[in-house]
Amino acid sequence: MHMNFASMSLDQFQNHFSTDSACIEYIFHTKWPEGFSCPRCKHSHAYVTTTRRLPLYECCHCRHQTSLISGTIMEGSRTELTKWMLALFLFSRTNKGTTAIELSKLIKVTYKTAWLILYKIRSMIHSSDNQTPLSGSVCINSAIYGRPYNPSVRKHPQEHLLLIGSSVNEWNEFTYLKIKHVLLTNPKERHIPHFETKAFQQQHIESDTQNIEIVTGFYTPTRLRPLLIFAKQASKWINKTFHGLGPKHLQKYLDEFSYRQNLSSKNIPIFAHLVQLCFKPACY
Ligand SMILES: [Zn+2]
Repeated sequence: MHMNFASMSLDQFQNHFSTDSACIEYIFHTKWPEGFSCPRCKHSHAYVTTTRRLPLYECCHCRHQTSLISGTIMEGSRTELTKWMLALFLFSRTNKGTTAIELSKLIKVTYKTAWLILYKIRSMIHSSDNQTPLSGSVCINSAIYGRPYNPSVRKHPQEHLLLIGSSVNEWNEFTYLKIKHVLLTNPKERHIPHFETKAFQQQHIESDTQNIEIVTGFYTPTRLRPLLIFAKQASKWINKTFHGLGPKHLQKYLDEFSYRQNLSSKNIPIFAHLVQLCFKPACY
């Protein structure tokens, strides 16, 4: 069961997960490493119905029925499990991720289905990030997504204001990075108002945090350059991979960037983490 998926080629991965039963076995062990556990009463025995596409587990104690994909992003999807697993693999194969066009070709689904699969993966990452507040020492800086160089004091309509923040350890290293899109009512406004930094603080920083440094001026000498480098990298990656984005979905791509950054800085393989996030969300 302990396979190193991170180093597998696409062919090797596809060979390994070529059947539903291979996926089912892997997901079962990820979800219930100690064997079945009823999500309602924690009872460890279930009647298993295997006449369906996916086994259905009915708790012997409380009769609660559950499947391997109950409550996951795969629930209700008509796409086969083998294609979902492949999508998770392709999403995590490189540090760059994948696009809906590439994914639709590789897993042989329509563009719309591929887009929806990626949307669901990103939504899962987005909500996981929203449940992970910054803590300890925290620093935050304002940044801009959009055109890389724009000396104007007025905001370009394709630019978006961001707040980038991180937990910082005693060696001044960033240990958990977040980038949040700040939507302003006045689209030309280039300054992040105080209530927006307050809102970031309330949503994304643990309430007992004492040491918070916030910089919101774009040209101030006190700006936190190492944080701004990440904001630039995020913009660059989004523009290069997805050819720019409108405001509607920007947040999910910023979260994807931070997710990859946070895992790779700790040498955590993305695929294994993503599968855990999918089937054992309570772990994180
Ligand atoms: Zn039960």
